[in-house]
Amino acid sequence: MDAEQSRTAIDSTVAHPARRYNYWLGGKDNFAADRASGDELEAAFPNVRKGAIANRAMLRRATRYLAAEAGIRQFLDIGTGLPTADNTHEVAQSVAPESRIVYVDNDPLVMVHARALLTTSPEGRTAYIEADLKDPDTILADPTLRETLDLGQPVGLMLIAVLHFIQGHGTAKPIVQRLLDALPSGSYLVATHATSDFGTPEQQALYQQMMEQGRSDVWTRGHAEVTDLFDGLDLIDPGVVPASKWHPAPGDPAFADNEVNVWAGVARKP
Ligand code: SAH
Repeated sequence: MDAEQSRTAIDSTVAHPARRYNYWLGGKDNFAADRASGDELEAAFPNVRKGAIANRAMLRRATRYLAAEAGIRQFLDIGTGLPTADNTHEVAQSVAPESRIVYVDNDPLVMVHARALLTTSPEGRTAYIEADLKDPDTILADPTLRETLDLGQPVGLMLIAVLHFIQGHGTAKPIVQRLLDALPSGSYLVATHATSDFGTPEQQALYQQMMEQGRSDVWTRGHAEVTDLFDGLDLIDPGVVPASKWHPAPGDPAFADNEVNVWAGVARKP
């Protein structure tokens, strides 16, 4: 789909995750339906904005870690979101200008804004693919991905705040495995995932009810299930932790675990 087709495919009457997340982060690329959905979730869970901020800060730190500490120069960022401050390529290229980034999202509005993601350092490269994480084979076979990334060299696979849109028990892991199978030894997985683990029993019951009524599209997972997404990889210390506790950096907010409600981890493929 090109940008023009995407523009006509946008449905502003139904809440979309990218636009709702943009709203929580204080952005302007959202519609009334997104704000209503965002407000409804925030009414039940007053900390969702802090969770979004902590998640975005984790993306920044993890990208910097991959570029600066792990020597990663290629990134596959699926569930990119609308462009905002510190997009993956900006962080990676600030460390290593030659970094190459492929962005993937299934929201047509992200495609419309992709020009902001496709700025690149002259030495590096960025590309954008509109595709669905549920169909990893299509992503892996995409000619744009193959032209931009060398799958013979390590890749940083970024699945940041996207796996919880893969609903159902046992549904996320096979997708992650399929993507990792296509990447060589020395590649990394960065994943963050919304959780209900820190909610009170009342909040957990309320959330369950919202899911059953179709008032939330975020399929939360517990610590064991999120940790299992890193199966077969070597987890970098401190393992799967609340997003604000993964390699905290000065200047990033130190929210409490039950304010963040997002698990985060980074691991290396042996
Ligand atoms: N990774 C960014 C944005 C997270 S918001 C960050 O952490 O800051 C979640 C994004 O995932 C949205 O842009 C949404 O459109 C995208 N998304 C949700 N389900 C998806 C799917 N099945 N395939 C691809 N992208 C998806």
